[in-house]
Amino acid sequence: PNGAASGKISMRVFDLTKVSMQELDDALRRPSQKSSDAIMQIIKPIMDDVRTKGDKGVLEYTHKFEKATSLTSPVLRAPFPESMMQLPAETIKAIDISYENIRKFHAAQKEDKPLEVETMPGVVCSRFSRPIEAVGLYVPGGTAVLPSTALMLGVPAMVAGCKKIVFASPPRADGSITPEIVYVAHKVGAESIVLAGGAQAVAAMAYGTESVTKVDKILGPGNQFVTAAKMYVSNDTNAGVGIDMPAGPSEVLVIADKHANPAFVVSDLLSQAEHGVDSQVVLVAVDLSDAELAAVEDELHRQAVELPRVDIVRGAIAHSLTVRARTLDEAMEISNKYAPEHLILQVKEAEKLVDKVMNAGSVFVGQWTPESVGDYSAGVNHSLPTYGYAKQYSGVNLASFVKHITSANLTAEGLRNVGGAVMQLAKVEELEAHRRAVSIRLEHMNR
Ligand code: NAD
Repeated sequence: PNGAASGKISMRVFDLTKVSMQELDDALRRPSQKSSDAIMQIIKPIMDDVRTKGDKGVLEYTHKFEKATSLTSPVLRAPFPESMMQLPAETIKAIDISYENIRKFHAAQKEDKPLEVETMPGVVCSRFSRPIEAVGLYVPGGTAVLPSTALMLGVPAMVAGCKKIVFASPPRADGSITPEIVYVAHKVGAESIVLAGGAQAVAAMAYGTESVTKVDKILGPGNQFVTAAKMYVSNDTNAGVGIDMPAGPSEVLVIADKHANPAFVVSDLLSQAEHGVDSQVVLVAVDLSDAELAAVEDELHRQAVELPRVDIVRGAIAHSLTVRARTLDEAMEISNKYAPEHLILQVKEAEKLVDKVMNAGSVFVGQWTPESVGDYSAGVNHSLPTYGYAKQYSGVNLASFVKHITSANLTAEGLRNVGGAVMQLAKVEELEAHRRAVSIRLEHMNR
């Protein structure tokens, strides 16, 4: 295969007995991302055009970027015609299985009843959730087919009870949309599909047009134009729209010990490396001998050169690395510091290590759990924080599609119990009307 011609595909090796933590930190820094200033300059006029010209603005850009000049409306509304979701039976079956598993796992995240606490006698605080009414789900790629992204966003939105689910995806040059996306949109009860990509799709859903429904939150991955447009609208108070986390290049960290099968370990590393040249994969090898590590390295080259996307793999592997650690604790320390989007544990008694995971988007436990099951069909979500954001953010889950509302409900006794504290703090803050809202009631009770 072509990959073999250009030298051995291998990752740099850092031995923790020989390098300092500082050197390792430097090596583990993610490949830098392009400055967003230039991208902002490009998308600003697109956002303005769509906001002011509506459908016409969206169509102009779809004609330009997607070459779909035959399109006369930017929206396909439900019910979607059967003819647009013709798929092989095995694809339907695979989507149906994945749909059901994702549905089950996200349905289990529902809070069946409001949380209620009596903080003092007569002072009841509660919290309940309500679905976000309208959500816009971006599914990238004119050429790529990404039914999994449509599932990972659409199914939780449906389970949460969002009233209006709007998909957006760039159409193909003939104006059609990939049938997998139409099928998923149909299954989750989407109201429409915006046939547009990039900044124009984001602007259309954020501001609304004659035919595109304005949404309250936009979720989904995309290229730098999509990401910049999402940041733009989330900062525009006129849009009044929320967004999910910006999605960066995919990444994985695999912790493997002597018990791990090198072929399995390597297949997991490569399944992330094939995403893009900016992806990063990290192997933390725990107490492996030189010979054992060499076996993994040989296997990496052997599997990589057989992949159709070997050139992309080469790019990703160039800034990926192996870290040699002595103990599992040391390995977990590195992993928690790196905060990987995906963490794979291929060690003996992997379940026991899960307790020590502090920072990660999603964890794949044991040798029979390749990360790709999570990408598609196991039920866990694949929209996860990258770039170390797993330290403070969660991946897409049911809560991404709901708001939590709190309520307080006091009896007269409750107000008597807590009123003194409220009045004193209102006095300290010199907010007399606040103080009186309590005192007037207490005086009324004593009449
Ligand atoms: P995309 O849908 O993100 O973007 C296509 C749009 O980009 C076009 O419609 C056009 O509007 C815009 N665009 C292209 N060139 C432009 C220019 N010069 N000026 C202004 N706008 C321009 O599709 P893509 O480009 O194929 O990117 C796919 C992205 O999705 C990648 O970044 C990839 O990492 C990511 N991705 C994510 C997942 C996932 O998490 N599920 C899977 C695969 C890919």
